[in-house]
Amino acid sequence: MRKCLRCHEEMVENLDVKVDMQGYGIRITTKGVFGTTVEKPKVAVCPKCGEVSLYIENFKSIK
Ligand SMILES: [Zn+2]
Repeated sequence: MRKCLRCHEEMVENLDVKVDMQGYGIRITTKGVFGTTVEKPKVAVCPKCGEVSLYIENFKSIK
């Protein structure tokens, strides 16, 4: 469960983000032009104030 950093309301998780009109989405990669994709990020939105938060679930793989 993610809480809003601004108002501490419980956020709505598991949403998606896409590049407008493309549908490719965005991705989190390692550094470099052809960085390896770590994981496709997910989005959480606060239903109270509208704060948007990007996150990945398997962040342990980047350590
Ligand atoms: Zn909020």
